[in-house]
Amino acid sequence: MTDSSSVPDDPVEKLLRSARDEAVDEEFHVTGVMMQYYEVCERELWFASRYLEIDRDNAAVVRGTQVDESAYEEKRRNVSIDGTIAIDVLDDGRVMEVKPSSSLVDPAKLQLCYYLWYLDRVVGVEREGVLAHPTERKRETVELTEKRIEWVEESIRDVYDVVTSDSPPPAEEKPFCDSCAYHDFCWSC
Ligand code: SF4
Repeated sequence: MTDSSSVPDDPVEKLLRSARDEAVDEEFHVTGVMMQYYEVCERELWFASRYLEIDRDNAAVVRGTQVDESAYEEKRRNVSIDGTIAIDVLDDGRVMEVKPSSSLVDPAKLQLCYYLWYLDRVVGVEREGVLAHPTERKRETVELTEKRIEWVEESIRDVYDVVTSDSPPPAEEKPFCDSCAYHDFCWSC
């Protein structure tokens, strides 16, 4: 695996130093959900970074939670690392990410690639991932390729820019705005 940038102000470097408890002028932590939000909508990421309460009764959120909690539960165990990321590990050591639908495959894949990157760069173990959509009976093996490492690290830099901004990115209508927990923040007049 190639090293990420060694420029001290690089957000990737900040994240790595924070995760390793090394001296850093400004701690920077990124969760898997933050990566997913970033890929879905940068404005959603900004709201979430301000701890604006998500609507747990939102049908899409409830459905996602129920599928995630029940699928393959007998074959995977949850592992928390540094209090920053929580991953599901299968008996064979692969990291599993379960999503109800493949309609937002890129956000789910970025989240999973970030877990694999974090394991590699912070913990020092290489793992394969599995992206599963049980309601569609689909599973895909995900490996941390050089291209995906670049994707993860560029995304970390973008996440940093979004969450350190004083104001949210402008609302841009997307196909899934209707099911977004922050819909009322964007489109109520
Ligand atoms: S409603 Fe749409 S624009 Fe607003 S945060 Fe959600 S996905 Fe983003």
